[in-house]
Amino acid sequence: NRTLADYDPAVAEAIGAELHRQQSTLEMIASENFAPLSVLQAQGSVLTNKYAEGYPGRRYYGGCEHVDVLEQLAIDRVKALFGAGFANVQPHSGAQANAAAMAALLKPGDKILGLSLAHGGHLTHGMRINFSGLLYDVAAYEVSEKDFRVDMAEVARLAREHRPKLIIAGWSAYPRQLDFARFREIADEVGAYLMVDMAHFAGLVAAGLHPSPVPHAHVTTTTTHKTLGGPRGGVVLTNDPALAKKVNSAVFPGQQGGPLEHVIAAKAVAFKMAAEPEFVERQQRTLSGAKLLAERLLDGGIDVLTGGTDVHLVLVDLRNSELDGKQAEDRLHEVGITVNRNAVPFDPRPPMVTSGLRIGTPALATRGFGDAEFREAADVIAEALRPGYDAGKLRARVTALAEAFPLYPGEETR
Ligand code: PLP
Repeated sequence: NRTLADYDPAVAEAIGAELHRQQSTLEMIASENFAPLSVLQAQGSVLTNKYAEGYPGRRYYGGCEHVDVLEQLAIDRVKALFGAGFANVQPHSGAQANAAAMAALLKPGDKILGLSLAHGGHLTHGMRINFSGLLYDVAAYEVSEKDFRVDMAEVARLAREHRPKLIIAGWSAYPRQLDFARFREIADEVGAYLMVDMAHFAGLVAAGLHPSPVPHAHVTTTTTHKTLGGPRGGVVLTNDPALAKKVNSAVFPGQQGGPLEHVIAAKAVAFKMAAEPEFVERQQRTLSGAKLLAERLLDGGIDVLTGGTDVHLVLVDLRNSELDGKQAEDRLHEVGITVNRNAVPFDPRPPMVTSGLRIGTPALATRGFGDAEFREAADVIAEALRPGYDAGKLRARVTALAEAFPLYPGEETR
C-alpha cells in the first residue's frame, strides 16, 4: 500500500507537473473542463476493481450490489436532468456512445448523413477512416459559404437525394444552435432516424440555456466531460422503449465488456452537480464569457466565424491573416493560454496548419471567471495575435488571472 509518490515517482512527478500546468495557465480548449474534487474522488476509487458486465439487477458477475446502486443513481439522475425516458451510462467515451447508438440503429453499409468534419462535425459523424466512415456509407452536409451556418434547405435537399437511414446533428466546432425540430421533420420525411450528438453543449442544455434535442431526436448521445464538467465518458439517451433495448445490447455486449463503474459513479456525481442552481449560474458565465470574447476579438480586428456565438466557443477566422492556426496556437501557448487550432470551413491551409482557432470558456467559468476576467483574457488573446506583441507582459497578465482563481487549492501537496 505504498503511495504513488513513494512507489512510482516518475508517474507522480508527471501528474504533479500536469496539475501545475492546469493551475498556472488559462485553459481555453472548448472541449475541456475541470472536474470537481468529488468527481475525481469517485473516479479514483476502489470501484475500478469491479467487474459488472450487464446492467443493474442483471449482471454476469457476483458482488454487484453496490455498483448496482451507483449505476442506477447515474441512470436516474441523467434521465431527470435531460427529461429522457431511458439512459445508458456505460459508454467509455463520446466516440463509444456514438458507435453504440449507430450500431443500435443501423446495419453496416447503411447510409448516414452528418456534418462534415472540415465544417465542424466530429470524426464519428462519418470521417473516412473512423469506424463511422468505414462501416457506413457516408454523405455529408456542410455549412453555407454565405454565412457559415448550417442551411436546413440544403440538409433537406441532401436527405432527399441520398435517403439516409440516419441523420446526425451535432458538432465539435460550430458557434451556433441547430434547429432540432427541423432536423426531425427532414428525418421523418425521408424515413431516417435522427441522432443528436450534444457532446459539446450538453451542459448548456442541462442548465436550460440551450434548446434540448432530447424531445426531437430518436437517440441523443453526449460526453460527460465537456460543458457538463464531469469525468471523461459517454451517455446514450432515448425516449423510445424499443430503441432502449437495442441501445443496451449495442453498448454491452455489442461494443464493450465490463463497464467502468468508477467512472459511472463519477458521472452520477456530475449529474447531481448539473442539477444545482450553481451549475446554471456557471453555464450563464460560460455563455456570457464566450459572447464577450467574440465581441472583444472583433473589436481588436480579429475575424470571428459567423460574427459571434450562441454557445460556449468562438471560432477565430485567420483566413485573411498572415498568422496561421499553428502560429496563433503557439503564440497563445507562449503567453500561457491553451487553445487548439482548428480548420475553418473552406480552409485554404492544410489540416496540420489550419486557418482557425477554437476558443472556449467552460473551463475558466468553472474556475470562477466572470465577465471582467473574460474581458481581460480576450484582450490578452487579441494582443498576442497582433504583430509586436510583448510575450512577457501578456504572460504576467495571464498569471495574475490564474492566481486570482486558484484551481484545486491544496492539491499540490497530495
Ligand atoms: N462527439 C462530439 C461532438 C465531440 O466533440 C467529441 C469529442 O471531441 C466526441 C463525440 C467524442 O468524445 P470522446 O473524445 O470522449 O470519444
